[in-house]
Amino acid sequence: MAVDYRGSSPVAPLADRFGRVATDLRVSLTDRCNLRCTYCMPAEGLAWQPREQQLTDDEVIRLIRVAVEMLGVKQVRFTGGEPLLRRGLVDIVQSAARLEPRPQLMLTTNGIGLDRLAAPLRAAGLDRVNVSLDTLDAERFHKLTRRDRLADVLRGLAQAAAAGLTPVKINAVLIRGLNDGDAPELLRFALAHGYQLRFIEQMPLDAQHQWDRKSMVTADEILADLEPYGLRADPAPRGTAPAETWLVPGHVDAAGQPARVGVIGSVTKPFCGDCDRTRLTADGQVRDCLFATTESDLRSLLRSGATDSELASAWQTAMRGKRAGHGIDDPSFLQPTRPMSAIGG
Ligand code: SAM
Ligand code: SF4
Repeated sequence: MAVDYRGSSPVAPLADRFGRVATDLRVSLTDRCNLRCTYCMPAEGLAWQPREQQLTDDEVIRLIRVAVEMLGVKQVRFTGGEPLLRRGLVDIVQSAARLEPRPQLMLTTNGIGLDRLAAPLRAAGLDRVNVSLDTLDAERFHKLTRRDRLADVLRGLAQAAAAGLTPVKINAVLIRGLNDGDAPELLRFALAHGYQLRFIEQMPLDAQHQWDRKSMVTADEILADLEPYGLRADPAPRGTAPAETWLVPGHVDAAGQPARVGVIGSVTKPFCGDCDRTRLTADGQVRDCLFATTESDLRSLLRSGATDSELASAWQTAMRGKRAGHGIDDPSFLQPTRPMSAIGG
């Protein structure tokens, strides 16, 4: 039976059986992309989701409203695939910014096209942006992404900062034998521009299912590479943030605060116990975890005429099934069939 919601107070938030409450929603706006990062998808791309299976802008906005107004979601991050390819992005952001209580609005992007879109997105209400950048070397960038677009990404970063989407964060994934020596150079670049750099351990979420632990550069290895910077443990509480952060002595960020660098040890230092995320795919499926092997179909429910309360109730049921952890180290671990680009990172 559907829960009865009154007003905008979340009568029953997105809680799971382990006491975690999801307040951070990741919304994938498309599974399409203009890069082909080797750790994400094959050179030939993927069979993209048919348009009719993708949520329309109105459907996306409705589900975000249900999440924010009825289920206690406080942060919404738009991702993909490449979210800047979604034509309705600016309007979706604008609608989300009008919700009460107003959620924090973020975007994870490869940065291509951000030079044009940063200012309109900021004006629409976007608060912050994470730009993925794994190397500053044009040749290695091409090897990693199979496209020659480094200059576009750098322009996008600069315009994001100019538009006030700050602090601008950079997400970097290191791959052994490809860009595993690039950590110090990436940090030098981030410090010079006032961007916040975060490294993410490579996860078994590639469409090709070729991940193997040996090619993954671990959080400890990354920190060892950054030793010359004399990093110091960050005294600020980590909360539910996935990144462990370090202070970089002698440097400040764009806001004059001590500069920080983060490492997300998703595989070797899982943070599942503190996870506060729920995910909505571009085709309207709720996922309780990046590594979930089951999903809940909100699109069919929505298109069959469900009320907001029924949608909220189905979302809650979906989250109650969340497992305690991703279990990558379990012998029984199964990589999800849906790849990262279709889940939304
Ligand atoms: N296209 C956008 C981008 O690249 O920022 C948004 C989607 S992408 C899937 C989101 C983030 O996931 C990026 O920072 C990307 O580097 C990261 N990512 C993709 N595949 C990954 C993998 N197998 N392991 C770890 N991170 C991955
Ligand atoms: Fe595209 Fe992002 Fe995947 Fe790279 S990581 S292929 S930019 S979706």
